[in-house]
Amino acid sequence: MENNTGRKFQFQLFMPNGYLEKVDGFTKNFELVAVQHSALTIQKLIPKAERRCRFCKKTYGQTKFKKEAHIIPEMLGNKNLLSYSECDNCNYQFGQFENELAHFLGIFRTISGVDAKQGVPCFKSPDQQIIAKANGETIDILREDTSNDAIKVNKDLSNLTVRYKKPSYSPLMVYKAFVKIAMSIIKEHELNEDYQLAIDFLLHPNSIKMTGCFVSGYTLPFSYNLPPQAYLFKKKDAMSPMHTHVLALYFQNFIFSIPVPLNKKDFFFYNKENVLKLPEYPPLLLEPTNMIDLTLTPFMNDFSSPDKVKGEEGELFFEFDKEHFEHTPTFDQNPVNGVMPEFRPDDVVKISISKHTGE
Ligand SMILES: [Zn+2]
Repeated sequence: MENNTGRKFQFQLFMPNGYLEKVDGFTKNFELVAVQHSALTIQKLIPKAERRCRFCKKTYGQTKFKKEAHIIPEMLGNKNLLSYSECDNCNYQFGQFENELAHFLGIFRTISGVDAKQGVPCFKSPDQQIIAKANGETIDILREDTSNDAIKVNKDLSNLTVRYKKPSYSPLMVYKAFVKIAMSIIKEHELNEDYQLAIDFLLHPNSIKMTGCFVSGYTLPFSYNLPPQAYLFKKKDAMSPMHTHVLALYFQNFIFSIPVPLNKKDFFFYNKENVLKLPEYPPLLLEPTNMIDLTLTPFMNDFSSPDKVKGEEGELFFEFDKEHFEHTPTFDQNPVNGVMPEFRPDDVVKISISKHTGE
């Protein structure tokens, strides 16, 4: 495998226990062809005068390259992976997808303490019931109204649930944010040969109607905070009836995956009697971690709808060590490490989470 500096390198992938079958099923058909890791990838700067936008194809002089464009959105904490083949006009357009992705992720970017453009973003539910923001070394989740169950403490089970409403978002726009990341990673000659329709899908809002915009993946407990990283896989057998590429995106406590849509060569398979079989992406990890025994929550959603989803509920679930929970001293103005006072659980107005441990 080559990275974009042309240097050969080798990656080894790891998996949590219990996923061997899924990993075999996937790696039988797909191989890793590119990795973009915000902490590991070294990029070679391309001078502006030599730049050409991989999306609109305009060159320096025909368009501008003043803004820093990112391969993985900066709002997910990626500072390092820059795209030297994305012009300001296209960058502006893709920024709208990223806003929708931020809304879809809801409170999670705040909870994970993501270092976005202007520091950790503040989260406010549209009904103002829940606010989350950084406060020095902690993230605070706050509410004023204790008459509802936006924060619910279950003393017997030593757990706590935060329920909040997400800002409205368009699933299709969120999906486009993922497709755009794939288009930023795929080799330019493949992009030019096979993915013009996918680029039109991104640049021209009503050019292509798509259904079956499936996004699958896993959520990890939110104490995990993965650096932003993207993997591109390619099918081993060009004639197998599957998508040519699969993108996997990792950040915070999420793993997202999409089969990359609208590859010209893949239409050959659509024209036969079957649609393409969706690959089951396993939770492969680049580094060996303490996630080996981790229970992951898989998900699969259809993001085909362009219509705004309004008032969708999000939930945060905290579990505590029972012993610790029961012996928490009574009211504490400034609880540390997310441990809540056991005193009057219904009146909790603030939860503080340590930024570094996620506890
Ligand atoms: Zn452009």
